[in-house]
Amino acid sequence: MRIASRLGRAVIVEGNLCADIAIASKGALSHHIDDLYEDWEEFLEWARADAPKGDQPFEVSELDAPVQRPRQVFGIGLNYLDHAAESGVTVPSSATVFTKFPTCLVGPTATVLLPSTTVDWEVELVVVIGRTADRVSEDDAWAHVAGLTVGQDISERTVQLAGPVPQFSLGKSYRTFGPIGPWLVTPDELERPDDLELQCSVSGRVLQKGRTGQMVFSVSELIAQISQVCPMLPGDLLFTGTPPGVGMARKPQEFLQPGMTLISEIEGIGKLANPVAAGPGHPQSAG
Ligand code: ZN
Repeated sequence: MRIASRLGRAVIVEGNLCADIAIASKGALSHHIDDLYEDWEEFLEWARADAPKGDQPFEVSELDAPVQRPRQVFGIGLNYLDHAAESGVTVPSSATVFTKFPTCLVGPTATVLLPSTTVDWEVELVVVIGRTADRVSEDDAWAHVAGLTVGQDISERTVQLAGPVPQFSLGKSYRTFGPIGPWLVTPDELERPDDLELQCSVSGRVLQKGRTGQMVFSVSELIAQISQVCPMLPGDLLFTGTPPGVGMARKPQEFLQPGMTLISEIEGIGKLANPVAAGPGHPQSAG
């Protein structure tokens, strides 16, 4: 099953048709997608018994982020061997965790605003939690996942790497730096949810390509590790790290420029298409 938020209302998506969840459930379920994660089991039960057929055509440009105000957003650094190598660091023995502050989240076709000339791309598989994960084991981890979506962990490298201690959380949390979507796909839709091809491109040029099966720490290992420290709550997001090919590691280095459209896609899930523009702080910004 695929669920999305269309013009502020939760919908089930089937091909290019959708069905409004609040209307189909006669008001038993909320129109706001974030509310569905709060009682994901109840939602799944209803959907299994009474899932409405999609009857309304929609455009992807009408979709908002499939999670809008999660309480926590976890990001993982250096979770692909070749990306760690291109970044010049050795792979840690436990996951490197940071946060993207939730106000950076935007939808699948939102414009990414550049505050500088050193903004980079990072396509990532994003996990949405559906049931509180509190000290769960690896074996039990997937049972706490509502679904998967595509994400971009957009990163301002100057801020991220400046200072005596790197500022991962700040450099990755500028407004519009967290496009996700276009919808959430439940894990049962995917034959091998632990091994999906993901890639990122601009103007037909592939910048990153990898498989989530190459992650150093798998989805279940990440949930097991993080949930030992803090409970992961319904609707929380987990950005699972990026494959090699980021702009910072290229020779010469390359960064996002106004006028580009950044395409991020994951096999079996879907794709984001985010135009890139100069924002406040960028030399080409009018403001
Ligand atoms: Zn990342």
